[in-house]
Amino acid sequence: MSGLTRITGILVLYGLAIFFLLGLGFYRGIEVILVLSVPVAVSGGLWGMPAGVLSAVASFLCSLPFVPDKLLPWAGMCYIAVGGGMGLWHRLTHPPVSKRARPAEHQLFRRSLNFVYVIDADGQILEGNDRAHEVFGSPRRVWEFIHPDDQARFREELGHAALRGEAGPTKFRTISHSKEMIPVELKLVRLEQNRFAPLALEMRDLSALAELENKVREAQARYRYLIEDAIDTLNTGILLLDKDQRVIWANRTLERFFDIDRDDMVGCEVRRALGRAKRLLANPDDLERIINGSADPFIFTVRAHTTERILEYRSIPVATERYKGGRIDHFIDITEKKRLEESLHEKTKRLEEKNQQLEQFTHVVSHDLKEPLRTISAFSQYLLEDYYEKLDDDGKDYLNRINRASLRMQNLIDDLLRLSRIGTRHETLEKVYLSEVFEQIKEDMKARLENVDLRLPKTMPIIIANRTHMVELFSNLISNAIKYNDKPLKRIEIGWSQQGEFYKFYVRDNGIGIEEQYREKIFELFERLNPRGDDYESTGAGLTICKRIVEEYGGRIWVESKVGEGSTFYFTLPNPRFSQRFSGNGTTIHGAALAQSTLR
Ligand code: ADP
Repeated sequence: MSGLTRITGILVLYGLAIFFLLGLGFYRGIEVILVLSVPVAVSGGLWGMPAGVLSAVASFLCSLPFVPDKLLPWAGMCYIAVGGGMGLWHRLTHPPVSKRARPAEHQLFRRSLNFVYVIDADGQILEGNDRAHEVFGSPRRVWEFIHPDDQARFREELGHAALRGEAGPTKFRTISHSKEMIPVELKLVRLEQNRFAPLALEMRDLSALAELENKVREAQARYRYLIEDAIDTLNTGILLLDKDQRVIWANRTLERFFDIDRDDMVGCEVRRALGRAKRLLANPDDLERIINGSADPFIFTVRAHTTERILEYRSIPVATERYKGGRIDHFIDITEKKRLEESLHEKTKRLEEKNQQLEQFTHVVSHDLKEPLRTISAFSQYLLEDYYEKLDDDGKDYLNRINRASLRMQNLIDDLLRLSRIGTRHETLEKVYLSEVFEQIKEDMKARLENVDLRLPKTMPIIIANRTHMVELFSNLISNAIKYNDKPLKRIEIGWSQQGEFYKFYVRDNGIGIEEQYREKIFELFERLNPRGDDYESTGAGLTICKRIVEEYGGRIWVESKVGEGSTFYFTLPNPRFSQRFSGNGTTIHGAALAQSTLR
């Protein structure tokens, strides 16, 4: 209350008192003293000691015309006693903020990011910090910014704080000077022991937190719907049960599988929830296994309307705290998978039969073909030996041609047979010491390797393979390296290296080389780049056989070449250290143990 208002208030009181005295005609001392004591008591009680003393003086002056002289000292004492007494009472109930209780002088108070006020027990604001001023302007009482609906609650908190020394933290709503609602968490602390002492009101702005909470809530709801939608579109029926075997939730897929409305299931005991599905099961006993939550997965058939489905049942106990003791049942639709499996099985069976027939056919045909061939070859040989002199030059030439053609035909059939055997029979796999393979090749090709500079690495790896395959693979490449070489000193270099889970081998020659455009083609069956009339050994199947062997082991073969300078054939074979396929059936090879075999 401003000074001017106080003075006006006192004047009004005096006016009323004088009007009262004059109006009632009280001119005697005691009544005058009593009436003029009233404004003294009011101003002392309302505005404190100075106001009380001032009023006492004013009342004394007013008493002079009315009160007899002998009573004047008594009047003065009475006014002083009333004004002083009421002033004292005011002081007790409205103590000034002591030095200790003046947080406004403290940096922390002024600079705090929270809204801080010092208030009295009636909610009168004594001071406020910068932040409070910025947001709430200059309120005189807390009621100006506490949300109307929260004011009753705040009053209670204020009462608590005055009584116990502190209250809160409690959440309230406030209204800023720009009429915005600001949620706050507030705390009230009495600044001194006295129950009438001022209180510190500290409010933490929760707007950002509330906004964040809203966002989190929205996001949670969005994701929940999203997840529910996603689970609803799964091809797997899902049933969530609590520890009392009651359905907590079921997805739309399950609804479809069992033709039961999921809203009818939720809250029901599982036996009742799924009871209606019994008539749809091919084997009604399966329902009991589902109800009991069979720990072993099983497959069953269900027929809803016209659709028959094969479902796989799996039950998983729930471990999370919230639904502990409950379970999640999965009904996986494996109808399509089963159909595919069956058709694949059928196809594989047919393919195997066909392969077997083909193998038999190749075998029979090649043997049957070889028989007349052998006769042609034998008789042309007899003719050459016994009748050579009786034939003229043309006759000799024809006979030689017949002989070479039959030999070539024999080679072709042999190659075809070898090719057809790769991968069709279950060749035995064994630990193959490649160093030994080379010993054999050197022995077999002794004559052809004369005058050939064959360079072998000091060590060769040990692999798991069919030994005959390895001999064939390396012999074919070495034989080509000799055959397609026009240099006076033929050089062949063989090497290998580790490449991830494979070994990479190479056979390099200084031969005629291969033009870029044929580097893929030469691996095709019967493809020959340099057919020579008199060369009945070359069939064009050698590299095809190499390719088939390498691919049979999961490897790859390719060639790099420079025409006129030579070619390098590369191929990869699995390193048994990494290979699952070759580590079974008793031939498990471990790491370094299979390291390398030494070439002599
Ligand atoms: P063949 O040797 O019986 O003709 P291959 O399948 O072994 O059949 O080889 C196919 C063709 O690839 C050969 O005819 C030859 O032209 C070419 N070729 C193979 N190896 C080499 C090589 N080391 N250098 C040059 N050409 C080669």
